[in-house]
Amino acid sequence: MKYIRCGHNTYESTTTEAVEINGGVLVIRNIPCYKCDNCDEIHFNGEVVKKLEQITKAVEERAQEITILDYNKAA
Ligand SMILES: [Zn+2]
Repeated sequence: MKYIRCGHNTYESTTTEAVEINGGVLVIRNIPCYKCDNCDEIHFNGEVVKKLEQITKAVEERAQEITILDYNKAA
């Protein structure tokens, strides 16, 4: 189900997220998501959320000042 808060339709898209970890920044590009066609609200499915958590954890262990990853290439 692709319902998001404002109730408008969503379409499949990709986005970039930046997370602060250990004083550094992790940037993940090309994350699959659903975007609202009205307000640009972003929704991730459960599988993507899980993978983002895994990526964040893996990077935490070898944190650099700035890490840029492509979602499709991250393990
Ligand atoms: Zn919306």
